[in-house]
Amino acid sequence: MRIGILGAGISGLALGKMLNASSDVELLERNDFSGGIAHAAMIGDIPYHQAGGHCLNSSLPGVMDFVFGSVLPKNSWHKIQRISSILFHGHYIPYPIEQSIPQIADFDEKLAINIVEDFFGTLPDRASSARTLDEWLKKTFGAKLAEEYFIPYNKKVWNTDLSQMSPAWTTGKLPIPDRNIFFRSLLGKKNCNVPHAAFFYPKKNSQNAFIDALASGLRITYNYPVLSAEKKENHWDINGEKTFDVLVSTLPLDIMPAIIPMNSWEAAPFNRLKRNGIKTVLYKTQPRKDTWTYFPDQDLAFHRVVSIGNFLRPTIPYAIVESTGGYSFEQIRGHAKKIDFLLEPVAENYSEYAYPVFDKDVEKNKKAALRVLSSKGVHALGRFAEWEYYNMDVCIYRAMQVAAAILKQCSC
Ligand SMILES: Cc1cc2nc3c(=O)[nH]c(=O)nc-3n(C[C@H](O)[C@H](O)[C@H](O)COP(=O)(O)OP(=O)(O)OC[C@H]3O[C@@H](n4cnc5c(N)ncnc54)[C@H](O)[C@@H]3O)c2cc1C
Repeated sequence: MRIGILGAGISGLALGKMLNASSDVELLERNDFSGGIAHAAMIGDIPYHQAGGHCLNSSLPGVMDFVFGSVLPKNSWHKIQRISSILFHGHYIPYPIEQSIPQIADFDEKLAINIVEDFFGTLPDRASSARTLDEWLKKTFGAKLAEEYFIPYNKKVWNTDLSQMSPAWTTGKLPIPDRNIFFRSLLGKKNCNVPHAAFFYPKKNSQNAFIDALASGLRITYNYPVLSAEKKENHWDINGEKTFDVLVSTLPLDIMPAIIPMNSWEAAPFNRLKRNGIKTVLYKTQPRKDTWTYFPDQDLAFHRVVSIGNFLRPTIPYAIVESTGGYSFEQIRGHAKKIDFLLEPVAENYSEYAYPVFDKDVEKNKKAALRVLSSKGVHALGRFAEWEYYNMDVCIYRAMQVAAAILKQCSC
C-alpha cells in the first residue's frame, strides 16, 4: 500500500513514523526542511522559532510514550518548570492572573476588590451557555477581570472582534478557575493547574532535534510543492507524476480548492475559513527568569515574549517577540523599546499560518470542508488541515487515530 502524506510538519512526520514500518510511505514537502511551523531556524546557537516559541508536554494518552519510546528518549530532554508573568497596569504579576489578585491589591486595592466581587458574582455553570468569546470570558472570570485582561489580551492574539468569535477553542487552552482555587489564591495559596506547568525541550538545545528524530528513516521529498491531487480510478495522482493508494493531507484547508478538483459549491466553505499569520522578532535580552511573558496592553504591538534562551542549558539571554495584530516590524521594534529587558533585535520573520480564527461560523465551515475531503477519500490531519487550535501533542494524538484508521482500511 503506497501512502502519500502531503506536508512534513509535526502531523505528517508523526503519522509517517507510525506507518513507516508497515507501509510504503512518502512525504511531500514544499520547504527544504521538515517541521513546518514548529521548525526552528538556527541563528548561531539560538533556536529561533520563527512562527513563535514552542515547548512540548502532554496529558493525552500515549503521546509522551510515543515521543520518548519511538522518537527521542526521555534522557534526551530537559524538563523545565514554567515561570510566566503578565505585564499588568505597569507591574509584572505571576500567571495565571486569576491567582494573582493579592499582587494586584499591592498596587491597586480597589481594582483587586472589583475583580473579586465580579468573580464571585458569576455563577459557576453559566459559561457553558455563552455563545461568543467575550461573553464566555465575562461569565468565566467575572466582568472586571475579563475587561481588564482577558478581552484585551485575546483581542491582540486573534486580531478580531471577540463578539464575533466562538468560545469553542478555550477547552484545554485556558485554565478554568474554580471558586476554591480562586479563594485559596486570595490567601496566598497557589494551585498549579495551568497548561504546560512543566514542559520538555531537547537537550541538544533546539526543537529541531525532536523534528530530526521524527524525520529520521522517513522518505521525504523536499522542495516539492503539491499543486494538484487527482483521484484516478483506484489511486491518487500528485502533480501528474506521483501515485499513491492512500492520501493524507496535512496542508491548510484554505488551499485545498486550488489542489483538489471541486466545484464552486464544494469550495465555498474552504474559502470562508479565516486565519491569522504571526510576526516574530528575535531579541537579545537582559538575563531573566521567565519562560514567557504576556502583554495585554493595547498600546503594545506584541502580545507575548517567549524567553527561548531559558529553555536551553546553559541558558542564554534571547527571546522571541510575537505579534499577530497586523503591525509592521518597525512598529514592533519601536514598541519593544518600552520594555526594558528587550535589548536588541537580531532577526525577524513573518509566518502566514499561525492561528485558525474561531469566528461564529467556523464550526459549520470546517465541518463542511472536511466532509468534502472525506467524500473524496482524503484523510485530513493537523492544525490547519483540520482548522483546529492543536498543539504538537494533539497533532501526534490525531496521527495515532489516523494511522489506526488507515491500517484498518488497508487490512480490509
Ligand atoms: C505561535 C505558536 C506557538 C505555538 N506553541 C506551541 C507550543 O508551545 N507547544 C506545542 O505543542 N505546540 C505549539 N504550537 C502549535 C504547533 O506549532 C502545531 O500544532 C504544529 O506544529 C502543527 O503541525 P502540522 O504538521 O499540523 O502543521 P504545519 O506545521 O503547518 O505543517 C504543514 C506542512 O505542510 C507544508 N506545506 C504547505 N503547503 C504545501 C504544499 N502545497 N505542498 C507541500 N507541502 C506543503 C508546510 O511547509 C508544512 O511543513 C504553536 C503554534 C504557534 C503558531
